[in-house]
Amino acid sequence: MGLEFKLVYLVVLGDAMLISGLVLLVLSVQRFYLPGNVVWYRCPFCKKDWKSSGDKALVHCPHCRQLVHPMIVEK
Ligand SMILES: [Zn+2]
Repeated sequence: MGLEFKLVYLVVLGDAMLISGLVLLVLSVQRFYLPGNVVWYRCPFCKKDWKSSGDKALVHCPHCRQLVHPMIVEK
């Protein structure tokens, strides 16, 4: 007990903080690389849905290959 116990405690605490720091870093990196705003679009012609990122005014429908103004679907 005493000094030795405090050192062990500090080492364990340091390890725990290091691990949680790494986990936070990995999570933030993952969030950074994921497309920020994934939304579902619906084609006004074929009424099919697909998932894409961002706000696009005009997209090519992957189902019927038309250039469309997609509707954004809340899922
Ligand atoms: Zn379509």
